[in-house]
Amino acid sequence: MSDKATKRILIVGGGFAGMYTALHLEKIFTKDKDVEITLLNRDNFFLFTPMLSEVPSSSIEAKHVIAPIRAFFSKVSFQEVEVHSIDLNNHIVTASHCPGCKIYNMEYDYLVLALGSVTSFYGLPGVAKNSFPMKTLSDAMALRNHVIDMFEHADLEKDAQMRRQLLTFVVAGGGFAGVETAGELNDFAQTSRKYYRNIRPDEVKIILVESSSRIMPEISEDLAAFALKRLRKRGIEFCLQTKIVSAAPDKVEIDISVDHIPTNTLIWVAGTAPHPIIGTLPCEKDKRGRIIVNEYLEVPDWPGVCALGDCARIPDPKTGNPYPPTAQHAVREGKQVAKNIALTIRGKNDDKKPFKFSTIGTLAPLGHRTAIAEIKGFKFSGFFAWWLWRTIYLSKLPGLDRKIRVALDWTLNLFFPRDIVQLKVFMKSDVLEQSSHPETDTQ
Ligand SMILES: Cc1cc2nc3c(=O)[nH]c(=O)nc-3n(C[C@H](O)[C@H](O)[C@H](O)COP(=O)(O)OP(=O)(O)OC[C@H]3O[C@@H](n4cnc5c(N)ncnc54)[C@H](O)[C@@H]3O)c2cc1C
Repeated sequence: MSDKATKRILIVGGGFAGMYTALHLEKIFTKDKDVEITLLNRDNFFLFTPMLSEVPSSSIEAKHVIAPIRAFFSKVSFQEVEVHSIDLNNHIVTASHCPGCKIYNMEYDYLVLALGSVTSFYGLPGVAKNSFPMKTLSDAMALRNHVIDMFEHADLEKDAQMRRQLLTFVVAGGGFAGVETAGELNDFAQTSRKYYRNIRPDEVKIILVESSSRIMPEISEDLAAFALKRLRKRGIEFCLQTKIVSAAPDKVEIDISVDHIPTNTLIWVAGTAPHPIIGTLPCEKDKRGRIIVNEYLEVPDWPGVCALGDCARIPDPKTGNPYPPTAQHAVREGKQVAKNIALTIRGKNDDKKPFKFSTIGTLAPLGHRTAIAEIKGFKFSGFFAWWLWRTIYLSKLPGLDRKIRVALDWTLNLFFPRDIVQLKVFMKSDVLEQSSHPETDTQ
């Protein structure tokens, strides 16, 4: 750490953990000219992931689940960069704005590691190439366009088997994100079907594949059973204790049968891994590759370095187990890290507080104005839980304008079917490929 009067705090990653660290540091150091705070993120927006699964189903407009990072800060400097490497020995982070452009070396006195996690495909053959992850806004928009594309294509297709393949959507992973995505897709299929006159209701199939014997391990068994029953009743098929072993553009192979599921759509929400940059750092990690931190969220042996959010293993003093990787936790961790860094800068190391937090509750929407919720031991399901989910998450969405936009999207959904406009964004290669028409079908 330098002895210079000005202290430089560098926050790497502008998701829940990094963003809330920056927001609290901004408050603490508003008038302090001797502290420079910089936040680095690859996008110039903050993504509110709890509403992401409503983007592919056109329940919420994509731009409404993100908020411009710069709008939140006057003291904190924001840089839209891709971070390439972190040199903990020399206190330098290297980053660039775009591929192939200038590399910037950014020095720091205090470093906050908040890079989150990435989708893990577990090296399964064909899965990374032939599936749609659901982690970023681009993922959700790509999936939305693809789903609409499948409906457009199926409406034209005469061959019944091919139509079924186009209209089969496989969701891999029975955790919150998987169940929410399946429920939302089902709603989309129900409400937009009237536009596709050649598609029969029974041709649309949504299949959720989960390797364990139950869905939603994050919530009590009875609520998960309620969710399973409700979603099955609405037509979603569940393959529990089933593993996907490979994927191709037109099929998904599962382990319980020699057969395969013919489909052009595999949505992959079955696993995450810590960010690859975290793997390059010379600090201690757990079995899953997360940085091990102490109760102050500091990285042992690396003074001035903190890690939090999905990329860190943060011990829960009550149980000794790590806190779960959720936005709910990342937000609180950000506040604690900001306070502790401020105390260290002010020479009040002994006043630092360990991170302690008890999960307030867990809520998950199931589509069709139904949700499940477990708050402080109280359990809710059905319409009231759905209302709770919407009210609570709307209040958490940053920015008044975003709150209003999402509330309007939800209100419009009550009166109108989902938007089926397909935004085709062609890459050059796609345009070139369009000149060939291998098969013809007489109308
Ligand atoms: C679909 C979905 C639904 C979810 N629903 C809920 C929910 O309902 N409730 C809940 O509590 N949690 C939910 N979660 C989990 C929650 O989103 C995460 O736990 C939370 O985002 C973790 O925060 P983080 O800051 O550690 O990581 P992230 O939010 O992932 O932030 C990491 C940031 O780092 C940036 N970044 C990564 N690499 C680089 C790089 N090389 N250079 C620059 N920037 C980089 C990313 O762009 C991102 O902004 C959901 C997650 C998903 C995917």
